[in-house]
Amino acid sequence: MAKRIEFAQAGGPEVLNFVDYSPNEPTDNEIQIENHAIGINFIDTYVRSGLYPVANLPAGLGTEAAGIVVKTGSQVTGFRPGDRVVYAQGPLGAYSEIHNVPESAVAHLPNDISFKQAAACSLKGMTVYYLLNQTYQVKRDEIFLFHAAAGGVGLIACQWAKALGAKMIGTVGSDEKALRAKDAGAWQVINYQTEDIAARVKEITDGEKVNVVYDSVGQATWLASLDSLKRKGLMVSFGNASGPVTGVNLGILNQKGSLYVTRPSLSGYVTNRAELDQASKALFDMILSGKLNVDVPESQIFALKDAQQAHRIIEQRHTQGSSLLIP
Ligand code: NDP
Repeated sequence: MAKRIEFAQAGGPEVLNFVDYSPNEPTDNEIQIENHAIGINFIDTYVRSGLYPVANLPAGLGTEAAGIVVKTGSQVTGFRPGDRVVYAQGPLGAYSEIHNVPESAVAHLPNDISFKQAAACSLKGMTVYYLLNQTYQVKRDEIFLFHAAAGGVGLIACQWAKALGAKMIGTVGSDEKALRAKDAGAWQVINYQTEDIAARVKEITDGEKVNVVYDSVGQATWLASLDSLKRKGLMVSFGNASGPVTGVNLGILNQKGSLYVTRPSLSGYVTNRAELDQASKALFDMILSGKLNVDVPESQIFALKDAQQAHRIIEQRHTQGSSLLIP
């Protein structure tokens, strides 16, 4: 018998229940993992709320954790019981003491990276890796715009941008978050509660604006993001924290300067063992070389049973950087 978080209907944080459950034996290609630290992602709130509907309820929640291999299926070749591992793209149900994950989604964890560090940055860090290196290759000294810069993905982006020698303009929702993003490596910061994003981007860049905008806020920032782009610039819309962008009239891309737009996700960039190994190596190298700090403050580390409280705090925009659940 183990414990996990389950929800039987979509809704607010109150639908999350802490329940007993019996994990299945791992199937041929699965690895059974004892989770030591679980990553909380804003995406989990979309799944819980029904924005990303789940076909079969009740279901578990969460896709990311780090821990130790307990059992392996008969076809598993790359892992053994006792191995330290991390996964970012597991099946729903990572908010759990024990979880079965396909071998293809699991990565070995270097000894010098803790379970907490790994669970804090695996999904978010591989996301920053593909965004800044593959969706658009940000160059040294290049100025670009990245929204929600003091969030989980955001604070990693600040540090990655600095490591690339690029000049990231980060947007944030408070002055306290502005300081945090700057500290992490953002070149300039815009508080979008008090400042006009596009006007400030224009000012900061001497009227030039930017080649690429990374926007996970969605609805609330869509137009300001387009207005911050140079002619033929790229809008990377990768999240919906304020609600999804819908009903776009393509003509707007013409009006705003022959713009490009893409709506990428990690599951479109990390799809097999080779891509997982490449992205996780890039991420682990950043941590091991000291360029990326993903330590989580005690105030954002919650007991697994307190998932409701964790979701409330994240949705109320009270967190900075990553948050964790501990079984
Ligand atoms: P965060 O820790 O960044 O939390 C979301 C942040 O969004 C908040 O802290 C808040 O920062 C900002 N925000 C702006 N408007 C709102 C709003 N109306 N309600 C709540 N928050 C708002 O979460 P994550 O690091 O987990 O994820 C960041 C974003 O990246 C999410 O949108 C997520 O969906 C997306 N994502 C996309 C991936 C992909 O591959 N496509 C993969 C991983 C994440 P502030 O107070 O500063 O405004």
